[in-house]
Amino acid sequence: MALIVQKFGGTSVSSTERIKNVARRVARWKAQGHDIIVVPSAMSGETNRLIGLAKEISSSPDPRELDVIASTGEQVTIALLAMALHEAGLKAKSYTGAQVRVLTDSTFTKARILQIDDKRIREDLGEGNVVVVAGFQGADERGNITTLGRGGSDTSAVALAAALKADECQIYTDVDGVYTTDPRVVPEARKLDTITFEEMLEMASLGSKVLQIRSVEFAGKYKVKLRVLSSFQDEGEGTLITVEENKQMEQPIISGIAFNRDEAKLTVLGVPDRPGIAYQILGPIAEANIDVDMIIQNVGHDGTTDFSFTVNRGDFNKALMVLETVKGHVGAREIVGDNKTCKVSAVGVGMRSHPGVASQMFRTLAGEGINIQMISTSEIKISVVIDEKYLELAVRVLHKTFGLDQAA
Ligand code: ASP
Ligand code: MG
Repeated sequence: MALIVQKFGGTSVSSTERIKNVARRVARWKAQGHDIIVVPSAMSGETNRLIGLAKEISSSPDPRELDVIASTGEQVTIALLAMALHEAGLKAKSYTGAQVRVLTDSTFTKARILQIDDKRIREDLGEGNVVVVAGFQGADERGNITTLGRGGSDTSAVALAAALKADECQIYTDVDGVYTTDPRVVPEARKLDTITFEEMLEMASLGSKVLQIRSVEFAGKYKVKLRVLSSFQDEGEGTLITVEENKQMEQPIISGIAFNRDEAKLTVLGVPDRPGIAYQILGPIAEANIDVDMIIQNVGHDGTTDFSFTVNRGDFNKALMVLETVKGHVGAREIVGDNKTCKVSAVGVGMRSHPGVASQMFRTLAGEGINIQMISTSEIKISVVIDEKYLELAVRVLHKTFGLDQAA
């Protein structure tokens, strides 16, 4: 017998029919003798609808009140799911985050979980209940309702699994696992049986939006056994996210090719090469709340240098405006920008022990005549910024060259 936390995303509970399906699935696990905690999201689209209502009243609603309304989507699904479980012949009880006492800090709309009171949950489990806990929410020290940021019910589930030392945290979603790349771009993409937390973090932060990044960090930190599964298929083991590297004899060097279509590049040309320049350029960008991804500063020559960085495409115009105001101040010659770029990355813990991955990647792109505009690396990732029109081609050839294509 095991203790299992099962999280169901918005599409898995998008109708009462689907909620009944979830109940049937939970009932099967329960029948095997396991203790089950279920964490549902709101019905798909519901959180957007609730936030939309708030925005009809105010263009900048009070974050505290926004959390009061946004958290109600999950309150609906926990009750419906508990009822569906009753109909399936099970004992079940639902709780909001605040009721359990998922204690968070007071950062409304993106609160962090500090502690979870497991007393009630353990009592209920002991009495044979399935315990249904609303995802995405908690309450601060003073009892104010908080939410954890969009997609936060993944983090709720992992936090519950950590607090209760669950044997496994299962994330049921509309895909059947984590893939070597997006199958819509590369039909030969394969589902991975396992991936390490570090790789998953890199994949997730690069736009493979299977899990909320924070939930992966959390699971890695507390060593929660985390599995991604399809909520629509009964078969399949999904993808297990592991702590250790895969111990196979022939470990793949690269686990996946990730990409981000929304990368925009800005370059400040001819800035004086002196201390403080990076700060003078990026300080105002940070103040404007723009996240910077890659940064490159060239070797100076003749006392000046060029400085490039990338931002999310949605922030491109804002970043350009900030740079125009900074330009005179730092004495730059020109600002140029390109918002038709994208980022493609090869990710794999195997590259730690295998040199030559970068050169293979660059050779492959060169072979297709794809120009690399920027490069950045970490211990387990190599990323390039390229023209967006080559995105699909680049992902396809890299997927192939690193041997990730499905065996024919
Ligand atoms: N319902 C919340 C959202 O849509 C939380 C979640 O789905 O994880 O962001
Ligand atoms: Mg959702």
